[in-house]
Amino acid sequence: MTAIQMVDLQRQYRRIKPELDAAIQAVIDSAAFVKGAQVEQFARHLESYTGAKHVIPVANGTEALQIALMALGLRPGDEVITPTFTFIATAEVVALLGLTPVVVDVEWGTMNMSVEAVRKAITPRTKAIVPVHLFGQCADIEPLLRIAKEKNLYVVEDTAQAIGARYTFSDGRTTQAGTMGDIGCTSFFPSKNLGCYGDGGALMTNDDELAQKIRVIANHGMTVRYHHDMIGVNSRLDTIQAAVLDTKLPHLDEYTAARQRAAAYYDRVFAGCDKIIVPERAAYSTHVFHQYTLRIVGADRNAVRERLTAAGVPAMIYYPIPLHMQKAYQDSRYKQGDFPVAERLAACVLSLPMHTELDDEQLEYITEQVLNAVKS
Ligand SMILES: *Cc1c(COP(=O)(O)O)cnc(C)c1O
Repeated sequence: MTAIQMVDLQRQYRRIKPELDAAIQAVIDSAAFVKGAQVEQFARHLESYTGAKHVIPVANGTEALQIALMALGLRPGDEVITPTFTFIATAEVVALLGLTPVVVDVEWGTMNMSVEAVRKAITPRTKAIVPVHLFGQCADIEPLLRIAKEKNLYVVEDTAQAIGARYTFSDGRTTQAGTMGDIGCTSFFPSKNLGCYGDGGALMTNDDELAQKIRVIANHGMTVRYHHDMIGVNSRLDTIQAAVLDTKLPHLDEYTAARQRAAAYYDRVFAGCDKIIVPERAAYSTHVFHQYTLRIVGADRNAVRERLTAAGVPAMIYYPIPLHMQKAYQDSRYKQGDFPVAERLAACVLSLPMHTELDDEQLEYITEQVLNAVKS
């Protein structure tokens, strides 16, 4: 059996090595390492894949979020609502820009932002909501969009973990994660569902004016060469990364199917075990399984993880500390116990190996070891 990894990027590479090597070599031959033709080409291809009117590639997912908030013209003191159970980047950029992060609890089942909690957190200073489509499943965006419209708020989707996931609205219309709010932000970090070979990210929007503003901000606030109309940043997707992504994009649906197949295997084996709760699937969203995250109940999660590690099965805790409990984000507004669901999740979640190359032999071994680990 091939050694089990959380993410196996080597085997994924080997499958498409000739195509990828040629794409990378072509960039080196052209020496257009920055702003090469592949960047715009990939952006157009991602527009047709996602259905977003505009895709603007940038240097990474965190900067995509930062640029989104800058493009919306948010000012210090403005409040931005994010879930407390997420990767730090979501709130980090809010704090960096001098905006006020307001965190809310999540749902026990989907682990995504609670709509009810968002409603309660809105104040006259609230300007934006940043739902995170955590682990590959869309947050319940329709009621969030309704609240945003009612209260005149922006919605910035953090879709770093959910590229390709689809949300179904109550009228039957389906759209892709990242294309439903004012701006969607994604990451091409190597281990993401569509990953490059370094850092990368993108913003998506259907709004022409916002798209133009985003392009200007990502390029030093420059409209005409050396004329800077607003304060910007330098955030570019390298041409080599764009070439890698453009080569991998046609495979994304197969990659998603491979993840879903592994998830279905896990589900099947764990169905009868009362110490394991498998990831809940919301009726309104597909799940692209950036992570397959169990909730371990009635067994010590940390001990389970140690037993798995000893048996050669890596397992990770995403995320061990909710944002309101992070040292850098200590705030007199929040204390332990304020967000009980997120705190309970932080103590019981366990993510299993999830990638595009898991074979039956590995899945059989992993599931056997997980069942042993929760029982002993
Ligand atoms: C990965 C990730 C980001 C940040 O992306 P980078 O490209 O690593 O900067 C932001 N939000 C979430 C939820 C993520 O998983």
